Amino acid sequence: MTAMGSVAYTAGRMSKFDAIFADALDTAARRGMRRRLRPLVPAGPGRVRLDGRELINFASNDYLGLSRHPALIARAGEWTERFGAGAGASRLVTGTLEAHAAVEARVAAAKGQEAALIFASGWQLNAGVIPALLAAGEGEALVFTDKLVHASLHHGCAAAGVRQVRFRHNDLDHLESLLETRGDEKARRFILTESVFSMDGDRADVEGLAALADRYGAFLYLDEAHATGVLGPGGMGLSGLAPGQVDLVMGTFSKALGGFGAYVAGSRALCDYLVNTCSAFIYTTAPPPAVLGAIDAALDLVPTMDAERAALAAASDRLRSILAELELSTAASTTQIVPAIVGHADAATALSAELEAAGFLAPAIRPPTVPTGTSRIRFALSAAHTPDDLDRLVEGLAALAPQRRPDA
Ligand code: PMP
Repeated sequence: MTAMGSVAYTAGRMSKFDAIFADALDTAARRGMRRRLRPLVPAGPGRVRLDGRELINFASNDYLGLSRHPALIARAGEWTERFGAGAGASRLVTGTLEAHAAVEARVAAAKGQEAALIFASGWQLNAGVIPALLAAGEGEALVFTDKLVHASLHHGCAAAGVRQVRFRHNDLDHLESLLETRGDEKARRFILTESVFSMDGDRADVEGLAALADRYGAFLYLDEAHATGVLGPGGMGLSGLAPGQVDLVMGTFSKALGGFGAYVAGSRALCDYLVNTCSAFIYTTAPPPAVLGAIDAALDLVPTMDAERAALAAASDRLRSILAELELSTAASTTQIVPAIVGHADAATALSAELEAAGFLAPAIRPPTVPTGTSRIRFALSAAHTPDDLDRLVEGLAALAPQRRPDA
């Protein structure tokens, strides 16, 4: 390396466009939307240390508390010993490790599908699988999406170059009217939605969606990122409520399963097609053995965790009833994701800061992540929380929330 190169690396170098980047950041700051990364240290089950203070963590999607489970940590280490720290290359280039095939077979079986494929992350999967899927076949591709789907699904649609036909949130009558009136006979119809919505914590009517998809010959794509591990038969997601009727189910290993990565489960033909066409599978290094080992251990544990799921559901019910007493809407939440809607973005930011001062990490979620006027605190509950953690949150909310009601 040249002297110049080493100076560049050690001292850092401004980029040519830093003034432009700084302008954009200033604009975001003026709108109160400047985001910053904060150093965080895990501090035991359901807890983190932020800026030197211990907080009860209601921000994480580690819904079953598996991220710190000794079995996941041990198997991540064992599989690293057996298979190495990295997969080396893309699977089409180097071949598939036994570890990849084994985990995929387990996921397919757990989801009641013929086959499964693992991806590096849920975001990457949605962004990459949707364009591959829409490229198959001829005739217009019509994509019907719920108004509240996750950014990664939007990204997939944008990458595919399609204009979405958006239906009102969880409104199957609206979806049906759109299915009926849009496109001609030859159009290929796709319905893209989530089984549990990430910012509202409500559920889709999976059986109703499956019935509609069948009636209109539409391909049903279901994102189970927040349901996998928590809901449905054996905790493996709500697609289990409509066996054999969801064409493609995706989910993540990064939330309730405590690790990282994501899966697609579907027919053998669908998965083989993706192996052959999906850029996000073909042109990326396969997930590493440590990640696969943690997934494998989580798949052992998830079916045995009915008691944890029941406790999580009871804690979520309790939080919702407390928020209702405090006259804060929890929208249509029925899951471990419990929003407290305060309305204005500044009110949400203020309540989040006050909660943090009182010892709780609970993020403010603002536009564009949620629609304007529905800014909220998003509480994510976890089996790692103790009943005492929840008691403390309830006390904290009783002191702080009334001033933050939308009409207060
Ligand atoms: N889908 C949904 C609905 C999500 O909420 C998320 C993550 N927040 C993802 C996909 C992306 O998953 P990952 O974090 O594994 O990239």
